[in-house]
Amino acid sequence: MSPGAVPRTGSGWDTHRLVAGRPLVLGGVRIESELGLDGHSDADVLTHAIIDALLGAACLGDIGEHFPDTDEAFRGADSLALLREAVARCAAAGWRPVHADATVLLERPKLLPHKPAMRANLAAALGLGEGDVNVKATRGEGMGPVGRGEGAVALATVTCVPA
Ligand code: MG
Repeated sequence: MSPGAVPRTGSGWDTHRLVAGRPLVLGGVRIESELGLDGHSDADVLTHAIIDALLGAACLGDIGEHFPDTDEAFRGADSLALLREAVARCAAAGWRPVHADATVLLERPKLLPHKPAMRANLAAALGLGEGDVNVKATRGEGMGPVGRGEGAVALATVTCVPA
């Protein structure tokens, strides 16, 4: 980062409902599960929260403005591809990510074994090293929609510096 360049941090939040007959994709990793996340794209709630945090850092609006769920082009979309496109749009606006941190809230299955692969996928899409990206997972402890297993939530922050 050049002297005087001020970093910016954006936040992201997303949620998707858990349903039968859908794959569970988090951070681009397909995870064995009876239920998957419902949505227009692959419904990768973790990657969506990171896209929104990235767009927030660059002051470029939100994921729905860039990749509308009314657009057939994005039906079943690979959200990592959307993240790569968001990185390109941020670069065009003069911003590049330097750090990302995210939390997934999901009652089951346990995400611990999948975190390294999620982190690697997200780092690659962001153009970062794995040491610059963190993925955390927690549960709802039986409370609320997450705790009842009705859906998943993801939160993220991304910090950008002038490209
Ligand atoms: Mg979403």
